[in-house]
Amino acid sequence: MAFNFKRYLIKVQGGRYYLPVAARLVWFREEHPDWRVETEPLELDVERGIAVFRARVIDEHGNVLATGTKMETREGFADFIEKAETGAIGRALAVAGFGTQFAPELSEGGVAHPVDTPVGALREREKPRDLRCSDCGAPITEGVYKLSEDRFGRPLCANCQKKHAPLSQQKQ
Ligand SMILES: [Zn+2]
Repeated sequence: MAFNFKRYLIKVQGGRYYLPVAARLVWFREEHPDWRVETEPLELDVERGIAVFRARVIDEHGNVLATGTKMETREGFADFIEKAETGAIGRALAVAGFGTQFAPELSEGGVAHPVDTPVGALREREKPRDLRCSDCGAPITEGVYKLSEDRFGRPLCANCQKKHAPLSQQKQ
């Protein structure tokens, strides 16, 4: 049965419709269970409160079909890291054709779009790997996990990263 995206549409400013990123992901996975979305932080500055993520839609052969990037700041959202990751995923999926016409964030002039819930919950459900901060046990996204492993040698949430010196500084 085809994915009924109409059930998930949200009406936004200007009478346009928006398809939340979580719904785009469900649609994507129903249609292409063998494809995947990978995310990576391009920039993550917890001190300054800036996160830039890139998401890539990859087919079963490893070909990159679409990419999307998104920057968020702490001024915009307390959970700016998750929001940046979610935004990047939403853009990449829209570029790949999942909800393209319902993705006002892609259009020039930037229509203010509703706040998306981070897709973390959705991804955790299908990922047996439990990604958590090794300090406080808070759940963290794969992007944060990777970056933290790189920088600190262990998984830390954004908050706990502030309390630890990066590996590069520890070596001195
Ligand atoms: Zn923590």
